[in-house]
Amino acid sequence: MIIVLKPSTTPEQLSSFTEKLRNDYDVTINRWDGVHSTVLGLIGDTTRVDIEYIEAQDIVENVKRVQEPYKKANRKFHPENTEIKITDSVTIGDGSLHIMAGPCSVESEEQIVGIAESVRKSGATLLRGGAFKPRTSPYAFQGLRSEGLDLLKTARKQTGLPIVTEIMRVSHIDMFENVDIIQVGARNMQNFELLKELGRTDKPILLKRGLSATIEEWLMSAEYIMANGNDKVMLCERGIRTYETFTRNTLDVSAIPVIKKLSHLPVIVDPSHAAGKSWLVEPLAMAAVAAGADGLIIEVHNDPPHALSDGAQSLTPEQFDEVAAKLFSLKRALI
Ligand code: PEP
Ligand code: MN
Repeated sequence: MIIVLKPSTTPEQLSSFTEKLRNDYDVTINRWDGVHSTVLGLIGDTTRVDIEYIEAQDIVENVKRVQEPYKKANRKFHPENTEIKITDSVTIGDGSLHIMAGPCSVESEEQIVGIAESVRKSGATLLRGGAFKPRTSPYAFQGLRSEGLDLLKTARKQTGLPIVTEIMRVSHIDMFENVDIIQVGARNMQNFELLKELGRTDKPILLKRGLSATIEEWLMSAEYIMANGNDKVMLCERGIRTYETFTRNTLDVSAIPVIKKLSHLPVIVDPSHAAGKSWLVEPLAMAAVAAGADGLIIEVHNDPPHALSDGAQSLTPEQFDEVAAKLFSLKRALI
């Protein structure tokens, strides 16, 4: 971290400021005295340094971080890829491609079990399905809630597929005890209390990127979970808000290699919520695999026109079968 001091800084102010920095943070300080101003270089772990506190000091002209503010999620301090074991046969981040597939919302036993059986046959290795739904309208279907969780467990029992489903509040964490991967949705990416509590569990977490979150903000959210003790975090790119309105969101394909460079955490891509249209799911999913995604999460519904949520972006099981075959053959070609 580089701190430029104002020319008016007195020697007394300088020494009390540097003493405070040394006492508060575990850093060493280099000093350069220029003609007009003095520059301080803080060396060491500056992740805990509060940049706003520094900026607020009268003697400070400006301050700049030269290191990323996240540590545990940072590839610099953990060069090898993180692999997250979900079951004996499913490890995410080990170089293989995993597809999480299933409906936006769990609607009935027949629906979830039927979809689970068909996506498993097509090669999906995990079942997705929302039980608690974050809907823009309070009048829209809100999910089957705890009954939805039970139905996901029934589908898991029948198919052997581990389940991934979204949590929305801290008080539900106990209810998610038996879920294989807990999803934090885009709208909760900065629900810091939820992230902290999930950090105190040992559950694999699928952390979706917030609707307008920068990559650094997203990594800082992963850091919240990891700083509280849980290293099993997967980052899910699901499209971001841009000025484009044709698609529901804009899939940020560049986020995949960028995250891979900055972090050791696995990257999952959700082409469904980026696209908003079922015909766009295949090309976006292919782009994600080509760009290095460790997995995909894709919405599949047995009857999209009658889906209780996100029908327009849902593939039928038959369409999913074709898309999955193409994705696996692309993956094989890339190895
Ligand atoms: C979902 O997965 O159904 C969902 C609501 O996703 P997101 O949080 O990315 O909008
Ligand atoms: Mn959805």
